Amino acid sequence: MNQIAMNLVQVQERIELAVLAAKREPEEVELLAVSKTFPAAAVEEAMHAGQSAFGENYVQEAVEKILKLSKLRPWLTWHFIGPLQSNKTREVAEHFDWVHSVDRLKIAERLSTQRGEFSELAPLQLCVQVNVSEEESKSGIALTEAETLCNAISQLPHVVLRGLMAIPAPTDNPAAQREAFATVRACFERIRDTHTIEPGFQFFDTLSMGMSDDLEAAIAEGSTMVRVGTAIFGKRDKITV
Ligand SMILES: *Cc1c(COP(=O)(O)O)cnc(C)c1O
Repeated sequence: MNQIAMNLVQVQERIELAVLAAKREPEEVELLAVSKTFPAAAVEEAMHAGQSAFGENYVQEAVEKILKLSKLRPWLTWHFIGPLQSNKTREVAEHFDWVHSVDRLKIAERLSTQRGEFSELAPLQLCVQVNVSEEESKSGIALTEAETLCNAISQLPHVVLRGLMAIPAPTDNPAAQREAFATVRACFERIRDTHTIEPGFQFFDTLSMGMSDDLEAAIAEGSTMVRVGTAIFGKRDKITV
């Protein structure tokens, strides 16, 4: 087995243990392999080891990889998870299946309009990124404004509102990790429970949180999608988060 395949097995085991500890079901947590800065060959290796969902942060790097792997496209889903500027939305709307990092309406509106130009493509799946550690990070909308943004996105035609994403400030303190994730979960549940009968919230089922160093805490607090890079592909050369 190659290194990536071995790492994947280890990450899957960590996820399983965390799911068991939280008395949840294994199907409730999906693994997103974050392949940013790693070449298409690394994605292929992970794919051959059974991984199908991949996350990318940089539009240009990602699109090159996606095009290189276009033959494998039926087996892959691509998730955009990095900061997104308006001048890059078109390429994201054309090439990705999901965007986790929507933090303003203008971006969601552009993605919806531009996705609509590709009538053969399914709607783009969107998560709203919330900012749980307000001082440390500039990305993400304030928790208090998340519901308003979700409401507006739920009305757009060519996107589907899927849930919330968060990147808490890094800490090795498990209690602090859980506290941040619990805050996101509370926000997610409040929005979901307020809008249960609205069609635009029918697929609001995703809590995208947890990375290589804190996936256990995230799963304990209800994460449905963990985004794992380093633990699968190894250390990145560039500082990228
Ligand atoms: C890079 C990145 C990850 C993966 O982080 P690791 O610590 O390498 O697992 C997850 N989410 C986002 C948004 C990222 O930018």
